[in-house]
Amino acid sequence: MSSAPQVKCKCGSTNFESSKPIRSLDDFVGAKCEKCGKAISRKEIDDQARSLAEAVIKKSLKNFTL
Ligand SMILES: [Zn+2]
Repeated sequence: MSSAPQVKCKCGSTNFESSKPIRSLDDFVGAKCEKCGKAISRKEIDDQARSLAEAVIKKSLKNFTL
């Protein structure tokens, strides 16, 4: 499992420029996409975090069979 959180820009790039090291999803706020230069918004981060969490839950439910 990778430890660093991953957020994707609308252009598809996952490389972001940030003034501080990115260790959590919160650190993506205000970070700029290296490819298109768009700053990522808190809402985009929340949306992606939610879908990531849902994917993890679905995966674990699949493994949890009675
Ligand atoms: Zn971009």
